[in-house]
Amino acid sequence: MLNFYAEQLAQLQQQGRYRTLPDIRHEGKWIWHDERKMLNFSSNDYLGLAANQRLKQQFLAQTDWQQASFTSSSSRLLTGNFPIYAELESVMASQFQREACLLFNSGYHANIGILPALADKQTLILADKLVHASLIDGIRLSAADYQRYRHNDYTHLQQLLEKNSKSYQRIIIVTESVFSMDGDMADLRQLVALKQRYRNVMLYVDEAHALGVFGQNGLGLAENCACIGQIDFLVGTFGKALAAMGAYVVCDQVIKDYLINKMRPLIFSTALSPLLAQWVYFLMQRLPEMQMQRQHLQQLSSELQRGVEQLTQQPSPSRSQIVPYILGDNASTLSTAERLQQCGFYCLPIRPPTVPSGTSRIRFSLTADMATDEVAQLLDVLKGSQ
Ligand SMILES: *Cc1c(COP(=O)(O)O)cnc(C)c1O
Repeated sequence: MLNFYAEQLAQLQQQGRYRTLPDIRHEGKWIWHDERKMLNFSSNDYLGLAANQRLKQQFLAQTDWQQASFTSSSSRLLTGNFPIYAELESVMASQFQREACLLFNSGYHANIGILPALADKQTLILADKLVHASLIDGIRLSAADYQRYRHNDYTHLQQLLEKNSKSYQRIIIVTESVFSMDGDMADLRQLVALKQRYRNVMLYVDEAHALGVFGQNGLGLAENCACIGQIDFLVGTFGKALAAMGAYVVCDQVIKDYLINKMRPLIFSTALSPLLAQWVYFLMQRLPEMQMQRQHLQQLSSELQRGVEQLTQQPSPSRSQIVPYILGDNASTLSTAERLQQCGFYCLPIRPPTVPSGTSRIRFSLTADMATDEVAQLLDVLKGSQ
């Protein structure tokens, strides 16, 4: 019986696609791996909050340990509904200036739960070609028909809307705001304008890489574009810039009520740790004050984008803290990643099938606690290895 699985694994190994859990240790913005201490250029901790001692101490000092609970012990629909969830939802709804907010255990839960709850056989889902695996899984779990439109190609999307809007009761457009592999962005204003031309089209935006990073108050790209109010399902995770776990959707009250009744990962899973929800509440309240971190991160991002453009002689797709260095073939991508690691920069190679073939790359991801010098040093190593 087990032979089958062993053979499959051997095949993955042959193809260079075998995955293992890395042996690592964290030390602030550094990471230890293979007895090497490296600056972590593969982190999602975009604001540098995960290892911020001052914030952790402040939070711990104000926490009432008698009251605090690590576990909810149950689904929110049974005995697991702690007051902190409603408090966090209420504070977030008012930050986003929307009717409602609903929490989930993770971005993955949100994305595999919301679409199956909302999309029935009379629904068509139109998703950007490059949306995250969790959204693909959500689409697959739903009863809806679906089609993909070419990445950020709104002419293509418009054609699909035109062709299908009369044949379905509902169409849901699904996109990320900042895309995870190229660090490029959706044009949210254009998407809003497009959906507003139809009475039966809704918009679902995943802000996983944008919460905390963009917007005057750190609420994401939708805040930057002043279109929070026009996005039907505005989703984000606390697992990245928010240095925690969990996720949210910001939406109308009727959608929240509907999800509470229909969304399986919400109904059938133990709710988020209340203590962690308290930590998220603590950080969400401080998010507007983190403008310095956002500005610094933006400056680092522009410098790395420009540096990579000089190396590749190609315009960079990135408009964010995620910056790809596209080498094309696997061998030089692997050797460049290895060389960067030897020089103390923890950078990971990304190869097909994660990205289209011929676009193997190193994916740099920056955090606000990096220094300008450190990015310059990384670029020096890259220039040397050409
Ligand atoms: C990371 C990520 C998720 C998953 O969020 P988790 O909270 O880590 O489960 C969903 N969507 C996108 C675009 C992501 O990058």
